[in-house]
Amino acid sequence: MTDNSNKEPRKNIIEQIRSWLGLENPPPQKNGLPGKSGFNMWYLLILFLFITSVQQFFLAPKVEPIPYSKFKQYVTEGKVGTLTIEPEKIRGTLTEKEKPGQEFTTVRVTDPDLVKDLDAHNVSYSGRYANKFLSFLLAWIIPIGIFYLIWRFSMKKMGPGMGVMSFSKNKAKIFAESETKVSFADVAGIDEAKEELQEIVEFLTNPGKFQKLGGRIPKGVLLVGPPGTGKTLLAKAVAGEAKVPFFSISGSEFVEMFVGVGAARVRDLFSQAAKQAPCIIFIDELDALGKARGMNVMGGHDEREQTLNQLLVEMDGFDTNKGVIIMSATNRPEILDPALLRPGRFDRQVLVDRPDINGREAILKIHAKNVLLGPAVDLRKIAGRTPGFVGADLANLVNESALLAARKNKETVEAAEFDEAIDRVVGGLEKKNRVMNAREKEIVTFHESGHAIVAESVEHADPVHKISIIPRGIAALGYTQQQPIEDRYLMTRSELLDRLAVLLGGRVAEELVFDEISTGAQNDLQRATDIARSMVTEYGMSERLGLVTYERARQPMFAPEGFAAGKTYSEEKAAQIDKEIARFVDEAHQRVRKILTERRVVLDKLAQLLAEKESVQGEELRKMMADS
Ligand code: ADP
Ligand code: MG
Ligand code: ZN
Repeated sequence: MTDNSNKEPRKNIIEQIRSWLGLENPPPQKNGLPGKSGFNMWYLLILFLFITSVQQFFLAPKVEPIPYSKFKQYVTEGKVGTLTIEPEKIRGTLTEKEKPGQEFTTVRVTDPDLVKDLDAHNVSYSGRYANKFLSFLLAWIIPIGIFYLIWRFSMKKMGPGMGVMSFSKNKAKIFAESETKVSFADVAGIDEAKEELQEIVEFLTNPGKFQKLGGRIPKGVLLVGPPGTGKTLLAKAVAGEAKVPFFSISGSEFVEMFVGVGAARVRDLFSQAAKQAPCIIFIDELDALGKARGMNVMGGHDEREQTLNQLLVEMDGFDTNKGVIIMSATNRPEILDPALLRPGRFDRQVLVDRPDINGREAILKIHAKNVLLGPAVDLRKIAGRTPGFVGADLANLVNESALLAARKNKETVEAAEFDEAIDRVVGGLEKKNRVMNAREKEIVTFHESGHAIVAESVEHADPVHKISIIPRGIAALGYTQQQPIEDRYLMTRSELLDRLAVLLGGRVAEELVFDEISTGAQNDLQRATDIARSMVTEYGMSERLGLVTYERARQPMFAPEGFAAGKTYSEEKAAQIDKEIARFVDEAHQRVRKILTERRVVLDKLAQLLAEKESVQGEELRKMMADS
């Protein structure tokens, strides 16, 4: 806290000076060379002004400059007291009775008679060499020295990277091999991601093997997943496994920098990495840097765009055969600039998902290694009680429990501490809407089971790949993943009807089991209605309306809100269309009800299994259905 309160005012002072000087907006870089000059020039100007004002106020002698003629007049009138003659100027004082202590100075002109005149008027004088070095020291070196000290001092206070002048200093931390002590053994619960990264490890440890075969190594690997699932950890583990240096930098660090600095940093990072190949460059929180360009209405963040451009340039210019792999992590892939995801950039994406119950148990085991557990603690049970938790939450849970036990002066961490810690952590997460309560979980298990069973029962639906009730993304509480067998360009009427049925499966299962329905099916119903509408109005698949297509009212792309394009058909026809859509959906509803009523035993069994394991593979479901 104290640190923070120090930082703010300091930054403000510098900002204030800049605004006094009218330097609020450094001019945009015109030549495209994101040089350090952008800020340096202003910095030097401030320094110059500072030094000249110091000279003005402190070093300039308080003397009156007078013309040479006046000086001669003083001499002839006998007003001059003492006199020092220097190579370029003459300084002197006036006599006591004229004006005591008043000094004057005059520029020395070529005047061979000067000494004669002085002698004639009895002025005492002496000569002196101007000490050029001393005055130079006084006027320039000392102020620069002071300025430097102030700068150093403020840098220290603000910490690295906080000061305005911390430009172009490379902050990419170089982790030597011994420093990333993380290995795959420290990462659990995300086995699919680990498997995918295994190839990267192999490439880094033995690049020659891949090159011989002419295989193309991915240049960039993007880790995508919710916060806390272990993306950063996984990237470090890859470096640890391959025993290569790990250069890491966070996207958010770039954002606070001055114009041109981020781009320079990126360049530095890549040139450093090239020297240490094979190695890994890791850019954490890529979304902070890689937001789609032009998305910012307020004129855009010039600096961020420049940095992003530089990153793209560096990635394009990089030869993977050198053995440098660029890894990156984000939890918001949807806002990334599409240019980043093009082939030759982050073309390989690895999903780092929330762990299921087995994964959570494994993660708990890893983190519980360092604490003394009581004999009654069952990590499997704890994993079962923490659906929706990610790796970071579980690490936090173990830590909280250990702290609670320590507070109670216990020798070991008991189940009671875990219970208390779970309640605590869950309370926090529930507020953030990230975990479900028991009732919600039950509903979701039946809902997803309904989708899956219908998908396996109808003829034309894609087979189920995986059913899961681990929340994924923002809206979905669970999901049923179907795997298309082949690419499709055409769909038949019966295929569309089957798809409609699968979409209704979740909702109908809720109806059958709970005799009540939830809001969870809203998205399903919308998609079902869309299919039915397309069948009626676009594909001419309704017997009653025939082959005529009724073009859907298309919204002009930039139409203002509430703008309605005219219909191309009558109100009467519109009513008929709506009726047809409703009929399609109703018929599908009846059909699904029949399927699920017949399969009620499997539905209950699958829901039960899903509640236990949280994710069920398609094969298991098919086996279950065959057995019953
Ligand atoms: P992310 O980068 O995805 O937000 P981190 O890698 O920063 O998540 O994870 C934070 C911490 O949580 C890690 O340092 C680790 O202690 C713990 N953690 C997260 N995921 C895992 C995991 N899969 N296995 C073991 N520990 C994990
Ligand atoms: Mg991270
Ligand atoms: Zn659904």
